[in-house]
Amino acid sequence: MSTVKAKIDEVSAEAARRRTFAVISHPDAGKSTLTEALAVQAAAISTAGAVHGKGDRAGVTSDWMEMERSRGISITSSVLRFDYHGALLNLLDTPGHADFSEDTYRVLSAVDGAVMLLDSAKGLEAQTLKLFDVCKHGNVPILTFVNKWDRPGREPLELLDEVEQRIGLHAAPLNWPVGIAGDFRGLISRADGSFTKFVPGIGGAKAQAVRMSAEDAAAELGDVWETAMEELTLLTEIGAELDEEAFTGGISTPVLFGAALPQFGVSALLDALTTYAPPPAARKDAEGDRRPLDTPFSGQVFKVQAGMDKAHRDSLAFIRVCSGRFERGMTLTMGSTGRGLVTKHAQTVFGRDRTTVDTAYPGDVIGLPNTHGLTVGESLYEGSPAVSYPAIPAFAPEHFMVCRAKDVGKYKQFRRGIEQLDSEGAVQVLRSDIRGDQAPVLAAVGPLQFEVVAHRMEHEFNSPVNLNGLDFSECRLTDAESAEQLAKMRGVEVFKRSLTGDLVVLFADKWRLRAIEREHPDLKIEQMLAAG
Ligand code: GDP
Repeated sequence: MSTVKAKIDEVSAEAARRRTFAVISHPDAGKSTLTEALAVQAAAISTAGAVHGKGDRAGVTSDWMEMERSRGISITSSVLRFDYHGALLNLLDTPGHADFSEDTYRVLSAVDGAVMLLDSAKGLEAQTLKLFDVCKHGNVPILTFVNKWDRPGREPLELLDEVEQRIGLHAAPLNWPVGIAGDFRGLISRADGSFTKFVPGIGGAKAQAVRMSAEDAAAELGDVWETAMEELTLLTEIGAELDEEAFTGGISTPVLFGAALPQFGVSALLDALTTYAPPPAARKDAEGDRRPLDTPFSGQVFKVQAGMDKAHRDSLAFIRVCSGRFERGMTLTMGSTGRGLVTKHAQTVFGRDRTTVDTAYPGDVIGLPNTHGLTVGESLYEGSPAVSYPAIPAFAPEHFMVCRAKDVGKYKQFRRGIEQLDSEGAVQVLRSDIRGDQAPVLAAVGPLQFEVVAHRMEHEFNSPVNLNGLDFSECRLTDAESAEQLAKMRGVEVFKRSLTGDLVVLFADKWRLRAIEREHPDLKIEQMLAAG
């Protein structure tokens, strides 16, 4: 066999065993807990909390991790990898705070599937719905995990109904809970009818999973067993079976019930991920053509994170491998400029550890440190022809502030900091001739982004800033011709987005926007991808 063919076979085989996914949820639904439970169950780490625990941040030195610690929120993200029965699961961690949704959205552009995590007592919550919309927009198939079944919650049928009614996904349970939430007795697998009894641990400790025959369970559990049997019959009657094509087509969602804290039902989720979640597929380039997995290396930057290590002031570009085999030391070409990029410092981005990565395959994420000039959305490729992946959509900001250096003598530091934060996508930077370069407008999806900017401008770029709120709430895109007319209107201001050159229009409020749209239907006023 030729070496070229061997390499191609290797790439295809490696891609086929990868599952690259994220967990989407509302804060507090149990994402951190589930992440740990998945890692523990997959035996990737020995004790829960070692990778990701909120209470375990020792040794973390970066600037804004202090902020995370003091606010009890998670801003940074990484990738966790679990080896599970020969499959490699890459879990792309997303920041937990609602304000960092823009980062979360970018991470979702790099996954092949998502787990939608619901709290059994709360069902679909605001942030879950927003993130669901992003997945839908990106055709990311969704598995649903209903968590905290060990606590009082809602009826399982009611939760399925909510999923169907509110987000239009046909819900296909893979397992079914026996006993109501809070009086949880165990799970029945719908595939083979087997029953696993839930024996709670003490004080949130791992529960015991005891396999029992249906006859024994029926004798022991009596009425609650009967109820579960009736519900299962009903599910079969209404046709709540999993159709794999409907799942990958975004029409249906496999649903699993369980409890992340006592680690019950978590291995069923791992099984479902390896069985149903799609492996990396040929990605569409900007022209809409799919680039086969076994072509030379190509990838896309989906996130740039700076200030991760105080000692080095480094930044890290996260790249999703889309095709081919990555080898450390390769010279890559940057799609936007045609410039070469050396990769001898490529790293893994697993948890807190940074080690060099020598090879990576489609579905993997590699980190390239200190590659200034790499921005979110950049395509990278080896050899020729050039590869260009579609831009990662920016989300419509809803909060706007004017930013000025406190000390005008530090304008150089100020400009460098703003440019860096802009290229990372920490905020969007809008400029106009009227306001000048000394007072750019920062636009964010969530107000916490401004706090990060203020903190980093002061501590990382040595240029403390003043931020003043602006009374705009709506943001749209326009073209040069319409911009000229819009600029003359009351309650409207036109800007250029530094990073992309897009013409961005801000409107005082939605009534003003609607009135202008009504009175001037000829103007180009285009919606940005809404954050919710
Ligand atoms: P996140 O904000 O989504 O990352 O949520 P966390 O993982 O921090 O969980 C929020 C709270 O719910 C914590 O107090 C967890 O211990 C608790 N929790 C998470 N999963 C479960 C579960 O399955 N059962 C119970 N009883 N509590 C849980």
